[in-house]
Amino acid sequence: MGKAFYPSIYDSKWMSTCFKCGRESGREVVLNAHGESYILTLCDECYKKYEPKVTRKGIEWREIKRFRFSYGVLFIESSKLGELISKASANIGWIASKISVFGIILSIVSTVFMIYSLANRLIKYNPIVIHLLKHRVGLMIPGVDPMLPLIEGLIALLLATIIHEFMHGVVSTYYGIPPSSAGVALFLGFLPFMAYVKPPGMHRDPWKNVKIAGAGIVGNAILALICLALFFLNAPRIYFEKPMLVFAPPPLLKLAGIMEIELPFTASLPYYIWFVNFAVILINGCMLFPAVDGHIILKYMLLKKIGYKYSWAVTLFSMLVFAVLLTWAVMIDWFHLFTSNFV
Ligand SMILES: [Zn+2]
Ligand SMILES: [Zn+2]
Repeated sequence: MGKAFYPSIYDSKWMSTCFKCGRESGREVVLNAHGESYILTLCDECYKKYEPKVTRKGIEWREIKRFRFSYGVLFIESSKLGELISKASANIGWIASKISVFGIILSIVSTVFMIYSLANRLIKYNPIVIHLLKHRVGLMIPGVDPMLPLIEGLIALLLATIIHEFMHGVVSTYYGIPPSSAGVALFLGFLPFMAYVKPPGMHRDPWKNVKIAGAGIVGNAILALICLALFFLNAPRIYFEKPMLVFAPPPLLKLAGIMEIELPFTASLPYYIWFVNFAVILINGCMLFPAVDGHIILKYMLLKKIGYKYSWAVTLFSMLVFAVLLTWAVMIDWFHLFTSNFV
């Protein structure tokens, strides 16, 4: 399967010339596809110009364009933006790569929390949860999810994705695989937009991939903590008496019939930036969800133990656990939603 076209990561001999144009180069990226990992050498020019993709026939080269439309999503990307991130990396790359290790801890905490709360839902029937779901709580779409007011929600999501992707970009540049492009994706079904930074592949060293993935989560944690501190500068007194309230947005407390809190914009903006980044850490850090950073962390940490050959098993296992838990939870919710309509 395509092995004749490019070396697999198991091969001991690496190419030292650009796979696209044949020029001498030492820049490598690892591409994962069809359950295998391939290593590819690219020269600086081809690196910036093309995005390699492994197909069954060989490597496909997608030219990086300013505008691209695929799967109903408009991508506006720029290699200049990628260069800007590379420049930032020269200054903060070292420190960013060090603190990215905290992403592992955050990811483990998120996973434990998510499993705990999912399991809790499966065991206990909670009428408040059903009531909140009826009001579209949890969709995370600003203006639709009552937890996220439109303006604050949009600003918070934009900042959360920018800091997250920026941190990925800075650390991956530090490890020699700068983003070949960075940009914005518009009209993404559940979110109106998303910033992204895209290195063409992964690093050969699993530990460095762990840190590149962790960096995004750490970026959200830094922004979350700064905004939480800013929120407390303008927060109503109740938050000083009951600090745990910061984990439940005011509209949620109101819907659940617990209490009503009015936040002035100067307090609600930092509040929602904190809350959205907190939520992003929980979702993105959860090792069970396929394709999120938490899962990448899990996969590349185990890779050192089990090797490339069986890394697909980690993905398969976590996806199975996730699918079972999710199906179970959704079925229980549907059951209660359905029956409660007749009571
Ligand atoms: Zn080349
Ligand atoms: Zn990420």
